[in-house]
Amino acid sequence: MLKPLTQFICDHCGHIIETPEKAYLEWENINDKEGKSRATNFKIVHHDAETNTFCSVRPSTATLSLEKFTGPDGIGALLSFYDQGEFVEPVFSVPRALNLREFTDIFRRLTIPFYEEGRQYLQFAFDDGFISSNQYGIYRPEKLQAFIEKYSPAVQ
Ligand SMILES: [Zn+2]
Repeated sequence: MLKPLTQFICDHCGHIIETPEKAYLEWENINDKEGKSRATNFKIVHHDAETNTFCSVRPSTATLSLEKFTGPDGIGALLSFYDQGEFVEPVFSVPRALNLREFTDIFRRLTIPFYEEGRQYLQFAFDDGFISSNQYGIYRPEKLQAFIEKYSPAVQ
């Protein structure tokens, strides 16, 4: 089982990222129809500064160390993709993240214990009737841990 909020699965190679220090959050900055800079195509990928080796889905994207998006400081950084706040953008117009469903998945991966591993079993749990219409319950850490224990071939 992955160490919650410490180990992640690389979106490029599919292997385990051992610590946030060995990873990047990468994304693409694009201009929307109104000319506003929006962030999209978020990925969590390997990056090892010591050996200068990395996985990248798109070489021209923006990148920052995954450390900046984990722990209590990380929540503030992640929320800026929804709203940069009144001091940066006095009048709110649109979220910085272009696709909120895509970005919310990244947010959950970085902040909810067991989501990173448990998310790959949500469809199985849904198909088996273990996921109800209670939206909050799906993402409770103990539920996610139970899905991992039930469906992960590595745990059985
Ligand atoms: Zn990788």
